[in-house]
Amino acid sequence: MTENSKNQLEILIGQALAYLGEDIKRPGLKDTPTRVAQALCEFTKGNQIPIANIAEKSLLKAPSQELVILKDTEFYSLCEHHLLPFFGSVDIAYIPNKYIIGLGTLGQIIDACSQKLQLQENLTEEIANIMQTALQPKGLMIIIRAQHFCIKMRGIKKQGSVTITRSTRGNLVTDASLRQEATVLLQAERDFS
Ligand SMILES: [Zn+2]
Repeated sequence: MTENSKNQLEILIGQALAYLGEDIKRPGLKDTPTRVAQALCEFTKGNQIPIANIAEKSLLKAPSQELVILKDTEFYSLCEHHLLPFFGSVDIAYIPNKYIIGLGTLGQIIDACSQKLQLQENLTEEIANIMQTALQPKGLMIIIRAQHFCIKMRGIKKQGSVTITRSTRGNLVTDASLRQEATVLLQAERDFS
C-alpha cells in the first residue's frame, strides 16, 4: 500500500468513528485511525505474498510416497462479510508423488492464504489449490477448524461453536481406507514426551 493510500485510509477510519458517534479528538482515540490502518494492512498482507512462486521454489525430491502430516497449525483471518476475525487450526495431510515441500513453507502458505479477507470455505480450497499445483501429490487433505467472531459477537451469538471445513484430492478422495488412516493420524493425541 502506498503512503498516500495509507493516509487516505486513516482519514476514512477517523470519519467512520465520527459517524459512530465518537469524539475523535479525545485523547484515547488520537492515534486510533493510524493504529487501525496499520493493523488492517497487517491483516491483509497475504495479498502481496507471491505464495505460488514460493511454494514451487521450496520443493524437494520425495524420499518415499508415505503420508506426510502437519497438524494444528494456527491461523488468524478476517471474514470478508463482516471484517471480524475468525481463527483456528489447519491440518494438512498429503501423499507425495515426486516431491515434498518444506514444512516451513506450508506455514507460509497458511499465512499467505489467511492474512486477507476470507471465507473459511475459500481458505480451505486456496490452500489445497496451491499445494495441488506446486506438488501434484498423489493425495491431499486439508481440514480447518475455526471459531468466528461474527457468530460469537453478532447475529445468532452462539458461543463455542466450531466450523469444520475439508478439501480432499486424489487418492484421499478415492481410497476410503487411506483417508481413514490419514484421519486417524490427524486425530491422534500429541505426545512429545
Ligand atoms: Zn462473518
